[in-house]
Amino acid sequence: MSELHKFLFDGMPVRGMIVRLTGSWTEMLSRRAANSETGAYAPPVRDLLGEMAAAAVLMQSNIKFNGSLVLQVFGDGPVKVAVAEVQPDLSVRATAKVVGDVPATARLPDMVNVNNKGRCAITLDPKDKFPGQQPYQGVVPLFGDQHEKLGKLSEVLEHYMLQSEQLDTRLILAADDKVAAGLLIQRLPTQGEKNIGSAGDDIGLIEDYNRIAILAATLTREELLTLDVGTILHRLFWEEKVIRFEPQTPRFACTCSRERVGNMIRSLGAAEAEGILAERGEIEVGCDFCGQQYRFDAVDAAQIFTSPGDQPPVTKAVQ
Ligand SMILES: [Zn+2]
Repeated sequence: MSELHKFLFDGMPVRGMIVRLTGSWTEMLSRRAANSETGAYAPPVRDLLGEMAAAAVLMQSNIKFNGSLVLQVFGDGPVKVAVAEVQPDLSVRATAKVVGDVPATARLPDMVNVNNKGRCAITLDPKDKFPGQQPYQGVVPLFGDQHEKLGKLSEVLEHYMLQSEQLDTRLILAADDKVAAGLLIQRLPTQGEKNIGSAGDDIGLIEDYNRIAILAATLTREELLTLDVGTILHRLFWEEKVIRFEPQTPRFACTCSRERVGNMIRSLGAAEAEGILAERGEIEVGCDFCGQQYRFDAVDAAQIFTSPGDQPPVTKAVQ
């Protein structure tokens, strides 16, 4: 079963989380493999998407946002876009659009940052929006301070967290064909944060964070993917006093629906819809996340364009 574990370090301004997506992750992979148009992901794309799914669960859980958190990588290589989306109840879905071949040895820059033009966007889309309210979005490049291409998604997201939350974060991510997992360690703001350098106590607390972050960084991919959470915490932090909380269970769920696909068709316009109907006899739309097929014949389409209904704006390319 997929698990999310939160923990604190007693007396220190440091918190952490470990996520292990198992059944929810293999569900996403088997749905993709069953898609006759795309087939299964190439292993490097699969691992990137798994890392994104794990990271998105950690980020959603970290900020406790009442809406969907959407982590997207827009690539300038064979992976055009990869998306992981997590709801407040930790239901998660993910997909990637790939054009061309991805060799088994491909690393992050080979997939999404060939010309250093790839970018990563984090969107927070509130559940209850007031009219006209736009989702919040932060975008970071896939390069570091010297414009060097970053080799790991975790480095990209550490940059984002430092920029957006001004909090030091250490992130370790890994995925394979069975597990998508992540460890997040974050320094919490302390009193007198603005007076770093003059307050001796704070320096001590920052040293606590640094020590724990260095320990966290020793976690290997193999350990993160294969060990249970208790064993990981014991191996890394056996000298620290760790306070653990009741685990939560992320799960796979898709938010697509016939109604939302109908809204998407409406946004195409009647002329475009009629053109497709004239050519193919029906409009068929497959959900990229879960594989569900939605079919609309001429009668269904006519209903879409005549029913007054409420017409929520289509804000995203996803259904
Ligand atoms: Zn779906």
